[in-house]
Amino acid sequence: MKTNAFAYVRADTVPDALRLYAEAGEDARYLAGGQSLMAALNFRLDEPSTLIDITRVAALRGIVADADAIRIGALTRHADVADSAVITAELPLIHAAIGHVAHPAIRNRGTFGGSVALADPAAEMPACVLALGGVMEIAGQDGTRHVPADAFFLGTYETALAPGELLTGVTIQRPAPGSRWGFAELARRAGDYAMAGLCLMIAPDRRDARVVFFSISDRPVRARAAEAAIIAGASVIEVAAVATDGIEVYGDLNAGIATKRHYASVLLRRELARLDQQEAAA
Ligand SMILES: Cc1cc2nc3c(=O)[nH]c(=O)nc-3n(C[C@H](O)[C@H](O)[C@H](O)COP(=O)(O)OP(=O)(O)OC[C@H]3O[C@@H](n4cnc5c(N)ncnc54)[C@H](O)[C@@H]3O)c2cc1C
Repeated sequence: MKTNAFAYVRADTVPDALRLYAEAGEDARYLAGGQSLMAALNFRLDEPSTLIDITRVAALRGIVADADAIRIGALTRHADVADSAVITAELPLIHAAIGHVAHPAIRNRGTFGGSVALADPAAEMPACVLALGGVMEIAGQDGTRHVPADAFFLGTYETALAPGELLTGVTIQRPAPGSRWGFAELARRAGDYAMAGLCLMIAPDRRDARVVFFSISDRPVRARAAEAAIIAGASVIEVAAVATDGIEVYGDLNAGIATKRHYASVLLRRELARLDQQEAAA
């Protein structure tokens, strides 16, 4: 199939992009890497009146680190996140996960912010951002606002972004020294969307824990029961037993609800066991 007819305009700055959206109206869409949007257009799942190309907005691109935090610009391509020495050293969870996002050709064009703004429940980057407690930086007509990841992902392809708002970047605090992390996903083939996935962050001495599953619900979800069990010092088996307690699990074409629950529990058990072995060997 082919897309509907649409107007195309290009923004050079963030204010430019916001102005173009205000002029075009709510049927407009921002075009970032186009790796999800153009497929949606070609299948006529979306029929925007105007595409606002933001790919030349230089201020949206790049990774900047200061003493406390790392900011990933929304237009930073997946491939640049994968190659970033800062991400590899400071946010190894993202480094481990990014290689599971599609294939090299898609990672060469797809953007970090496009993935977060799209909020596919099976996507890796939204889950990483939630596990790392990232904060979204959002530009709109009334200025810039900040929304923590816990309040950003609202449902399938649904976020706290209001129409016309632009995600400009995501800021992530540096994990405390000695924090442990885990990433795992089950997919039929390398590069496929996951059937179930896990992002895990555990603070030193189990002071805090964030357990996030993706591709088992309508959004990336925190496993609060498992987090509480980790903090309370429960065993790997005990934590895995409550992996999906309190989570509304959704089935899909890959697996039903019971299977998704099983996958999630297995992923968590394996990652926790791996971390325990790592700690014992250290
Ligand atoms: C074959 C295939 C396999 C894939 N497999 C995976 C996978 O395994 N895991 C995975 O996570 N992803 C996967 N993807 C998706 C890929 O990661 C996309 O790059 C990503 O989902 C969207 O990023 P983009 O920059 O291409 O955004 P676009 O396609 O340009 O935009 C997507 C949506 O987000 C909006 N948007 C984009 N940027 C912003 C912004 N800064 N502010 C506000 N709104 C914005 C757009 O208006 C649009 O509605 C796959 C894609 C393909 C085609």
